[in-house]
Amino acid sequence: MRTLIRSGLIVTDEVISPGDILIEDGRIVKISKFIDRQDPEAEGAEMIRAVGRIVMPGAVDIHTHMDLDVGIARACDDFYTGTVAAACGGTTTIVDHMAFGPKGCSPWHQVKEYHRLADGNAVVDYGFHGVLQHVDDEVLDDMAQIAKEEGITSFKAYMTYDGRLDDLDLMKVLERAAKEKILIAVHCENHGIVTCFRERFVREGKTQTRWHPVSRPAEAEAEAVNRLLYLAQAVGEAPVYVVHLSTKKGLEEIRKAKATGRKHMGAETCPQYLLLDEKLYDDPQEGLKAIMAPPLRRQEDRDALWAALKENELDTVATDHCPFTFAKQKQQGAEDFTKCPSGAPGVEERLTLLYSEGVKKGRITLPQLVKYACTNPARVAGLYPRKGTIEAGADADLVILNPEKEWTLTAQKMHSAVDYTCYEGMKIKGAVERVMLRGKTIVLNGEFTGVRGDGQYLHRGTSSLA
Ligand code: MN
Repeated sequence: MRTLIRSGLIVTDEVISPGDILIEDGRIVKISKFIDRQDPEAEGAEMIRAVGRIVMPGAVDIHTHMDLDVGIARACDDFYTGTVAAACGGTTTIVDHMAFGPKGCSPWHQVKEYHRLADGNAVVDYGFHGVLQHVDDEVLDDMAQIAKEEGITSFKAYMTYDGRLDDLDLMKVLERAAKEKILIAVHCENHGIVTCFRERFVREGKTQTRWHPVSRPAEAEAEAVNRLLYLAQAVGEAPVYVVHLSTKKGLEEIRKAKATGRKHMGAETCPQYLLLDEKLYDDPQEGLKAIMAPPLRRQEDRDALWAALKENELDTVATDHCPFTFAKQKQQGAEDFTKCPSGAPGVEERLTLLYSEGVKKGRITLPQLVKYACTNPARVAGLYPRKGTIEAGADADLVILNPEKEWTLTAQKMHSAVDYTCYEGMKIKGAVERVMLRGKTIVLNGEFTGVRGDGQYLHRGTSSLA
């Protein structure tokens, strides 16, 4: 089957150029200023007109939590509803962070569990990050084996929460990761700082949402980022990836390390840390919607993160999509923020937010949008150049975006199983018109047209950071 996308403004992470794209059997086969439908190579192609439209790679979100079981609640999007939401927002690939399994289980336990959850349900292509919740020789051997057999070439470690790894555990993981070229993605918050404040606030009755950001200060993030980067350096530059960077202080640690010329490190931020303010927590109900870790921050943090994107000092923008219903699940924290399931939706909003708030407002360029939302995530996840770019041989995962359309974000019109968006009422410029997954249209004018289970499991290669 052939498809010809005619006269779009084709955008990659490097260039913007008007032209045509020829797709055959799910892959991009040719990109050119003009492809004649009379040519034998394009014969019989279905034509999609893209005049006045941006044609960009399908977006890649390497930080989601579909169907996440956190014990006190389960994320309300499963791999079907969550990936329908992703697709409608222009995301055609996700790499999902697994939940912790039962205490003491092998990393294989969650690999099997996640295939059970995702296979046959996902509507976009998907992979998994493994998870480390305790460390011994067997776990390290399993990590290496899972990377080879499953193509799960990245694992997540937490520096806080139950299931966190201490410095010695982290060292063992990083030593092995360096040897096996496995990327270690890390949630960086100092456990002592966070626990000290949370325990004291609960004792003192400071359980309203406004105490949530106070309990997880910038110092907790910056200290953990700094420590992780030194641990990784100590074992000879183990490949590490800082997830959801939220603060200027944390960013300064990233900058400091990158300035020494290190190559095997990367950092991600998320739209909520670029766009939302901690003042949201002043309202005890609105605040619940944004209970997440790390918390929302201040204007100076947002300014610093946008500036870092402009200067190419960060690597990716992902979502940390982890939705709990406001009407019910989030209310568990109504009297005490420490009892609120932590996480917020975002997988459907990411691309248009970055376009509208980033590109349209001059904070980043259009190629930078593609770099942060598509190409770099694919590189970091070991999926490039199959995913995240427009070139011959790549999967024909494409987004056709109307750059001028103005609309208003509202949960009512969105596709996640969640009942709210943190961006309710926000005016957006630019709309996803069509989304293609391996050459097949799965979203048209805001409606999902794909099929449950059409997403393919991605056996990933080595991360560009490894
Ligand atoms: Mn997360």
